[in-house]
Amino acid sequence: MIDAFPAPSIVPLEHILPDEPLLMMGAGPVPIPQKVAAANSIVINHLGETMSRVIEQVKDMGRYVFQTSSSHVLGVSGPGSAAMEMAVANLVTPGARVLCITNGYFSQRLAEMVRRVRGEPTILESSHNQGADVATVERALQQGKYDVVTMVQGETSNTVCNTNLAQISRLARRYGCLTIVDAVCTLSTMPLEMDNWQVDAIITGGQKGLSSIPGVSLLAFSEEAWARKIARREELPYHWCLDAQLADKFWNQKSYHYTAPVSGILALHEALRLVCEETLPQRFARHQRCSEALQAGIEAMGLGLLVEKQHRLNSVVGIVVPDHVSAEAVRTHMSKVHKVEISGAFGLNILRIGQMGEQSRAHNLFRTLHALGSSMRAAGATLDLPAGMAELERKLSAQS
Ligand SMILES: *Cc1c(COP(=O)(O)O)cnc(C)c1O
Repeated sequence: MIDAFPAPSIVPLEHILPDEPLLMMGAGPVPIPQKVAAANSIVINHLGETMSRVIEQVKDMGRYVFQTSSSHVLGVSGPGSAAMEMAVANLVTPGARVLCITNGYFSQRLAEMVRRVRGEPTILESSHNQGADVATVERALQQGKYDVVTMVQGETSNTVCNTNLAQISRLARRYGCLTIVDAVCTLSTMPLEMDNWQVDAIITGGQKGLSSIPGVSLLAFSEEAWARKIARREELPYHWCLDAQLADKFWNQKSYHYTAPVSGILALHEALRLVCEETLPQRFARHQRCSEALQAGIEAMGLGLLVEKQHRLNSVVGIVVPDHVSAEAVRTHMSKVHKVEISGAFGLNILRIGQMGEQSRAHNLFRTLHALGSSMRAAGATLDLPAGMAELERKLSAQS
């Protein structure tokens, strides 16, 4: 009965999308380079010689951005959260005791994932808007016997950075724990050294630091984690799609697990290639220079940043919304008038501007800072827009 379900009348995309794409300056997804967009438009066979060559290079480049020699770099068809869940599902067995170091929304999500695979999370929450403290973590490790530690490098939700990640990860290894690190927003924007810091699983997504598309994510397991937990496992993990041994068939043995997201992998290949071309040291320096200039410009305008300098993330900048100003009104004005999109926050009265990948470019900073100041003013804030723009200019030219 074709008539019972007639075709719906649909508005074509060109009438839904804005005439001019918005400049995506929020907490992700971020703008993608033309090479990434072009690669994303191609479909090839998911198995065979061409795909194998692409996968070999993605793994090599993955090892570079993770700074590891591990042979267990894997991709997953899914958001950053799927990579988080894949790390958890393969390293946390039922009844395992997990120390979940939390500073906000995403680190809490890791704890929820631990709970769902029947692990036993103990939450160690950092002080308000601060990164985890090494001595506090060590006390927790002494008091309880843990199998795994989870944490984020950058807590995108409230713009807190765990600057002590290296010490904490090495400490966890000394206490016999495997460490899972969420680097979704930070990877390739700031230093992270998987092998040197003794991290056992690193997770990233496409749409943030790497400036690729959302929906294809990358992770790596250490040789140690693979040998201890994955190769010698006694029970199958709960999730068939996220099973690291099955994923290994595709990523290391040129055979079939599920149909790989070929276009997304090609896009990721290009995004990673651009990282290699730029080199990590240069890329870190660019992110730091741009983010610090943006922060200085925001403060020079008379606005405040949420997190103290010592604990502040550079990859996403959290701006306190002045009393009597509506964050939503600012965001709407920025989108409508200036065609710049930034993010609100989960429950906090802040606005967030991303400094990940293509967002960290001088021309994008000038447009975004101007749009922010002008929209804040339109929403009732009192501030000095020219002073902010001048400070941005001063900082960018002083450091370059
Ligand atoms: C964005 C983000 C995630 C989740 O990524 P999705 O692709 O939205 O699933 C996890 N952790 C951090 C730190 C993030 O910034």
